[in-house]
Amino acid sequence: MAKELKALKEYLEDARKRKYALGGFCFWNYAYGMSIAQVAQKLNLPMLYIIGDAEVKFFGGEKNAVAAARTVAENVDVPVILHADHFRDFESIKRAIDAGFRSVMIDASSYPFEENVERTAAVVEYAHRAGVSVEGELGRIAGCEQKLSVDEAEAMQTDPDEAAMFVEQTGVDILALSIGTVHGEYRFPPHINIPRLQKISSRVQIPLVMHGGSGTPEDKVAEAVQYGITKLNLATDLVKIVGKATADVQQQEQFRYSVANLYAKAYEDLAKYAEHKMRLLADNIL
Ligand SMILES: [Zn+2]
Repeated sequence: MAKELKALKEYLEDARKRKYALGGFCFWNYAYGMSIAQVAQKLNLPMLYIIGDAEVKFFGGEKNAVAAARTVAENVDVPVILHADHFRDFESIKRAIDAGFRSVMIDASSYPFEENVERTAAVVEYAHRAGVSVEGELGRIAGCEQKLSVDEAEAMQTDPDEAAMFVEQTGVDILALSIGTVHGEYRFPPHINIPRLQKISSRVQIPLVMHGGSGTPEDKVAEAVQYGITKLNLATDLVKIVGKATADVQQQEQFRYSVANLYAKAYEDLAKYAEHKMRLLADNIL
């Protein structure tokens, strides 16, 4: 019997209570996913995958992504969570839940506050009937391609009063914040706004999430975990590791093409990276 995927809420609530965080590792392929799951197993931590629209396409649809994550779950003894990342509308979320996702993010953060509330609350109502956890987002997370001044960057960040209202009005389980991280690779040194996080954290009791974990200074990450961050999304770093490892091995003089020769180093490097991040985030309980 296939082991079921788990809902995210209870794991992040425990993380908030005990001041640790889980990495949300981008899932786009069974074998890479499995090399990270073996690390979670070794450290006895839940395996949390995040998957966006583009990666769902690589699997050939939501059902195949769910099947791949369930296969991981059959091969490890720790809980496996597959979390839909940045799904933008009700229809795509409904499709994911109907396909077996137990955890979703509705990102309506590009809409004005009222409309974000409305769209998020509609997802919460549908998801909660199916026992599915919901992450919402308030504040805009910049993309690496955007060059913003410090004032512009700050204006996009999550407002603490709005955050409290948003949680109350939507009934969302988990909240993604904008506090200075960006999606993709940093082109300039990031300023993580810890005082803002502290304010939000004192008003919002649910688990908080930081996107754009790749390249974010580790001392700031560790500090953020002390103030309620319970999930750090990691995607860009993983893709870079695979890209670099497969390119490097081909430069070796003795290199001959085979699946093992081309990919073994990538699996190994991913596992090393995952272990480093998991230990950093869950330092308090390991
Ligand atoms: Zn994100």
